[in-house]
Amino acid sequence: MPAKNIEELVSLCKRRGFIFQSNEIYGGLQGLYDYGPLGVELKNNIKSSWWKSMVYDRDDIEGLDASILSKQDVLRYSGHEETFTDPLVDCKKCKSRWRADHLEQDKCPKCGSDDLTEPRPFNLMFKTNIGPIDDGSSFAYLRPETAQQIFINFKNVIDSTSKSIPFGIAQIGKAFRNEITLKSFIFRVREFEQMELEYFVEPGQDEKQHEYWLKQRLDWWEAQGVPKDKLELYEVPKKELSHYSKRTVDIMYNFPHGLEELEGVANRTDFDLGSHSKNQNELNISSKVRDNKDSNSKLAIKEPHMDNWVVPFVIEPSAGVDRAVLAIMNEAYREEKLEDSSRIVLSLRPHLSPIKAAVIPLKKNNDEMVELAKKIKSQLQELGLGRVILENTGNIGKSYRRHDEIGTPLCVTVDFESLENSDITVRDRDTMKQERIEIKDLNAYFLKYF
Ligand code: ATP
Repeated sequence: MPAKNIEELVSLCKRRGFIFQSNEIYGGLQGLYDYGPLGVELKNNIKSSWWKSMVYDRDDIEGLDASILSKQDVLRYSGHEETFTDPLVDCKKCKSRWRADHLEQDKCPKCGSDDLTEPRPFNLMFKTNIGPIDDGSSFAYLRPETAQQIFINFKNVIDSTSKSIPFGIAQIGKAFRNEITLKSFIFRVREFEQMELEYFVEPGQDEKQHEYWLKQRLDWWEAQGVPKDKLELYEVPKKELSHYSKRTVDIMYNFPHGLEELEGVANRTDFDLGSHSKNQNELNISSKVRDNKDSNSKLAIKEPHMDNWVVPFVIEPSAGVDRAVLAIMNEAYREEKLEDSSRIVLSLRPHLSPIKAAVIPLKKNNDEMVELAKKIKSQLQELGLGRVILENTGNIGKSYRRHDEIGTPLCVTVDFESLENSDITVRDRDTMKQERIEIKDLNAYFLKYF
């Protein structure tokens, strides 16, 4: 059973140190959140799992980590300056501002008035200046998506890796959007992270590849604990497609606040590479691209079997890390009735758990026991599975509850018998079953479990 409402998740996140309001001690900053000690581990594990499936498990995708600050040219030729807008309306009565397409019955959500201004486009990109002189030439944007930096590095990657199509470039990183209205905790924020793949294919292969990537992405979500029957595919209507898209299918998840986009899988055609290319008339570009006089590069490929330069089509699965955190936590959350009490359990898939195991000495002040627990912690940490902690609180029941709530799959308890027999108890988060295991067999047990 997922969480009953978003408040349950918000409360767990704050209480246990997953997510905090950003700039909190100065009153907070809207639409920004900070990931705490457990949140950063969960987020890193989600990103590693995506990276592994995209880059390490395959041989046709390379990674990239490009800059966040972007030259104006990049976002001009990409079309974002002109089209990356949302319709903004003002309420004339209470002076609040809203996204016109998110209003119910064209009424102000704050005061209920229908005296609103006509919608006008509001560009979502954050602007800044680079360097000490603040003039036109220092102007820059914070990127609104990681994708453009992948496109403008297309030639660098091919030249340095000798890749041929189909191949992809994967990137995980921050993106910034000055969203008009914020929503549901970390669902819609102004600074967030994206996991984006741009997969370059021969024109004509794009539709087949689009289907392939949709299936891949559903499989990946399932492996993170968000099963396919909780996801819905939404075919974005033609009139709502972004300027670059031939077809976009959104992967929708039933968040605590409703069914909304978790990831978008778009066919971006040859629009972006074409737009950023010089000498466009020498290229057979199918999209209506902007005439480019500033680029010094031709973002096309010519392989031995090709007669002409080809601008590849692009399939883009683009997932938000923050929405992934929310969906994965929501799916893992359950409240369980026990005989005379209840417990909250976060049944995260073990590879995503912020803490893989807690080693707990039964008695806080027993030096021998604590020493042995420290040794076991180091031994397990060395396995490289992720974070293992020593929890020296002396209250075993409380420790188990805490670790159930934060999703730690295994707890290892060191007791008096451990000192005599060199064995410990391993407790499983989901079944609460306890097993006695010899310390010498513990590594093998962990490796098998994870
Ligand atoms: P929405 O319609 O919800 O605003 P979008 O269609 O603008 O989303 P894309 O441009 O397709 O989103 O971005 C790809 C992914 O990045 C989204 O599926 C989402 O997971 C994430 N994302 C986009 N905007 C935000 C945001 N403001 N806060 C958190 N995640 C976001």
